[in-house]
Amino acid sequence: MASRIYFDHSATTPLDPRVRAAMGPYLDGRYGNPSSLHQEGREARSAVEKARAQVAALLGADPSEIIFTASGTEADNLALLGATRAAEGPTHLITSTIEHPAVLETCRFLERTGTKVTYLPVDGEGLVHPRSLRSSLRAETRLVSIMAANNVVGTLQPIAELSQIAKDHGALFHTDAVQAAGKIPLDVNQLGLDLLSLSAHKLHGPKGVGALYVRRGITLDPIIFGGGQERGLRSATENVAGIVGLGAAAALAREALVTEAARLAAWREHILRSLRESVPDAYLIGHAIQRLPGHLCLGFAGQEGEMLKLVLALDEAGVAVSSGSACSSGHKGDTEKILEFMGFDKQRARGLLRVTLGRFNTQDEVERFLQILPQTVASVKAAQNEVSYAFWD
Ligand code: PLP
Repeated sequence: MASRIYFDHSATTPLDPRVRAAMGPYLDGRYGNPSSLHQEGREARSAVEKARAQVAALLGADPSEIIFTASGTEADNLALLGATRAAEGPTHLITSTIEHPAVLETCRFLERTGTKVTYLPVDGEGLVHPRSLRSSLRAETRLVSIMAANNVVGTLQPIAELSQIAKDHGALFHTDAVQAAGKIPLDVNQLGLDLLSLSAHKLHGPKGVGALYVRRGITLDPIIFGGGQERGLRSATENVAGIVGLGAAAALAREALVTEAARLAAWREHILRSLRESVPDAYLIGHAIQRLPGHLCLGFAGQEGEMLKLVLALDEAGVAVSSGSACSSGHKGDTEKILEFMGFDKQRARGLLRVTLGRFNTQDEVERFLQILPQTVASVKAAQNEVSYAFWD
């Protein structure tokens, strides 16, 4: 029997065996607490600091600017809450309508506690326009938070341009780079970033560990209080094995970035070209060029309401893809909202198929997928037509 095809890397990625090997000793014999003075503690400390340098290198940052967190979600929360609470007087924050819930829900909480928030619109390809940021800035705007890459549609935002606008105004710029880190080049200095969130499990690292880049000189208030680890910004005994895993994953991503991005983008384009012939009803959602290398977001004209069925039928055929964002399963309708914000009508906003490729996929899997998908789309369509005819009987 053919092995399963995993094409859902935006939800999570398999652990790279080299990351697992790096983590192993810290799950086993090297159990020291990095805050302890003895040899066991010093060993753990030096592993954490090595990982900090590896994450910093991926971003062109200084190691002292990396704060480890327990997830991408926590990094986003720390950036938004930390920057807002550190500000004096009334604060205003700007974000976009299509951010991940880790940002949007934090904004909603901030609104309930008195912060004003502006949600920038996006165009039909999911892009935030610099002019809309420019016209939304206010004297009290403290922070602008725009994601580097969207988790559902894959569109990359013009981060350098947006961050320059924020900087000229004297506001901080945060980007949620959970989907982008390790997949596209991200240099915090070239991009003019003040804060950047990332998450290990999206780059072949372990789940439950992330990091926030905090440009030197920026003051954040902590959101977790305790023993003062991570420069007082993230108290708690460090998840040493997880942090080592994130460091190793960052180093591997940095090494492989150019070749991996080229390979995944070539497969993405190959899939698109092939589908144009085999499934003429398929259309691409998001930006055609400014998108994550391995990310395809597809609609099927007339079948938008059938996407769950299609995902389940593909699952049965041995292919793991998604009908939206896994992170939003508790937020029903988020995918639909994103498409509506992009200007899709109610019918087209009903569903999409997200196909996201990763490091361990093969050409053979791509070709098998190109066999399976058209057949599965056709069978779901046939079942859909049968149901409609049944109403006439
Ligand atoms: N931000 C984006 C854009 C994401 O896609 C995700 C997860 O899918 C997160 C934040 C949350 O990251 P984590 O799962 O590490 O909490």
